[in-house]
Amino acid sequence: MKRKTSQKIALEQIFIQQERPLGVEEILQQGRKFVKSLNQATVYRNLKILIDAGWLRKISHPFLGNLYERTNRVHHHHFHCRKCNKAFELPGCALKEDNIAPEGFIVEDHEIFLSGICPSCFKKYSNSQQVTPH
Ligand SMILES: [Zn+2]
Ligand SMILES: [Zn+2]
Repeated sequence: MKRKTSQKIALEQIFIQQERPLGVEEILQQGRKFVKSLNQATVYRNLKILIDAGWLRKISHPFLGNLYERTNRVHHHHFHCRKCNKAFELPGCALKEDNIAPEGFIVEDHEIFLSGICPSCFKKYSNSQQVTPH
């Protein structure tokens, strides 16, 4: 099995496997498993192709900068783990837009970024008794 994987297909594979938003560094690292010659310029070029095709969207994350995720997601929010520095997708939304703002404001959209410790880091750190309170 030595067939060459195209860079675009490699990027698509990463997003299908990961199911969470990814930054360029992560995409680069994982993409090199498929395509050794991948570099930052080719990653950016293919991200743009996938965004233009409506397959990916760019998120400006307050802690992590630009992240990319699939467009086939329903409304959701993101969790940033401050230990492993990864972003995760949290399914669903508990915010009720119709009673969040005072009378007279018409809320049309919102964005929430949560942060803390992810389950796998919690396991790791609680085993070594290193969970630090916020
Ligand atoms: Zn973590
Ligand atoms: Zn929401």
